[in-house]
Amino acid sequence: MENMAEAAVKELRSTVSSGKTKSYEWRISQLKAILKIVTHHENEIIEALRSDLNKPEHEAFIHEIFSVASSCKLALKELRRWMKPQKVKTGMLTFPSSGEIVPEPLGVVLVISTWNYPFLIAVDPVIGAIAAGNAVVLKPSEVAPATSALLSKLLGEYLDTSAVKVIEGAVRETTELLAQKWDKIMYTGNGRVARIVLAAAAKHLTPVILELGGKCPAVVDANINLKVTARRIISGKWGCNNGQTCISPDYILTTKEYAPKVVDALAAELEKFYGKDPLGSNDLSRIVNIHHFDRLEKLMDDEKVSGKIVHGGQRDKTNLKIAPTILLDVEEDSLIMNEEIFGPLLPIVTVNKIEDSFGAINAKGKPLAAYLFTNDKTLKEEFVRSVSAGAIAINETALHFMEVGLPFGGVGESGMGSYHGKFSFDAFSHKKAVLRRGFGGEVSARYPPYAPWKLQL
Ligand code: NAD
Repeated sequence: MENMAEAAVKELRSTVSSGKTKSYEWRISQLKAILKIVTHHENEIIEALRSDLNKPEHEAFIHEIFSVASSCKLALKELRRWMKPQKVKTGMLTFPSSGEIVPEPLGVVLVISTWNYPFLIAVDPVIGAIAAGNAVVLKPSEVAPATSALLSKLLGEYLDTSAVKVIEGAVRETTELLAQKWDKIMYTGNGRVARIVLAAAAKHLTPVILELGGKCPAVVDANINLKVTARRIISGKWGCNNGQTCISPDYILTTKEYAPKVVDALAAELEKFYGKDPLGSNDLSRIVNIHHFDRLEKLMDDEKVSGKIVHGGQRDKTNLKIAPTILLDVEEDSLIMNEEIFGPLLPIVTVNKIEDSFGAINAKGKPLAAYLFTNDKTLKEEFVRSVSAGAIAINETALHFMEVGLPFGGVGESGMGSYHGKFSFDAFSHKKAVLRRGFGGEVSARYPPYAPWKLQL
């Protein structure tokens, strides 16, 4: 018997064959429908995010609702231009000719999403896929069940279900989906499952975008505005889902002598933001579930780091809350330094010279983002030149995500492919090369019989 995944792909293929999803009008109608979802159902989205993560309303609005609305508005404004074939200047070898690059939809694509920004990370790629003229199946994360159910309901109500479908579920459903032939798969999540996705895609020669994580470092030099630095680190760490964010600073690198000052500044600003009892603060998300709570407890209780907590450390298992926690002088071989933290713990690793931190970063898997705080021009240039990462931000954390002029994606261990803004349209398009000629411009040198004079430049 045909399963849900097979039936969905069959229907979507038939819709794509009809040519419907290719038209500018269809794409615009679907993008407008997504914009309607975010404007008419803001409160339901906020409630679902509260239920899944106790996400503060402010973060839910800025990071998920506003970001999706912005992506949609940009695509609505720019779509005509993005779809336009791009003229290319041709050279002597094809003279006389004209060339153009024609963006064409890939066909039927699969988006597998994760739980930490369960609305944004599900809908943002769908916007790109629709803008590029594809039919799409979205598989939201079962780890954020309220948002998953809401996505299924709202996309089902507002979008053309002959071309856009939400299939909820966990490993079994995703495995069934991955067994189908897709024209592109975009997966956001961890590296272990990414390998399963890549292996399934290989069977059908399906291209993939993998949006993964890693350990994002923040290098803190002494030549800085320390208060602003502390606030921006807090904003990208605890102000982003309590550290459950792929681009949150995972650890700090600073010099031995400067580290205590960094700790004091972070502690002072944390208290201003979240009060003396951060477990009671309404401005911090909770840990998503008991599995992740236990995982984070294990990192904190590892005997190599348990004496190194210099700020925070409070936890409340019943309510799945962990306070912003700073650990100082953490050793490289501790558990916390060998897996992505993805939570409210922030270890500080000390180096003798700030320049030593660049080599330390490059010795690990390539991170999704790397941050540097400094006023030193040479250090900034050296950081951009020598550190390999999906993205680099100088004197900032995580904010590059909001800049749609920049591609968002990883490199090496942190993933492959990128999206956001026009990059999302490109991610789900094939760039078809078209060369046009008339019947003039014949050159006998290209045809047999070949002769030595024909090889002269
Ligand atoms: P998750 O548990 O929600 O899993 C992601 C998706 O994979 C889900 O839809 C899930 O159903 C599916 N899945 C899980 N196991 C599977 C299996 N065995 N076979 C097929 N599908 C399976 O999310 P997660 O992996 O815990 O996500 C956290 C990770 O995602 C972190 O590493 C984080 O850095 C990364 N992340 C990356 C980005 C980015 O944009 N680069 C954004 C957010 C999160």
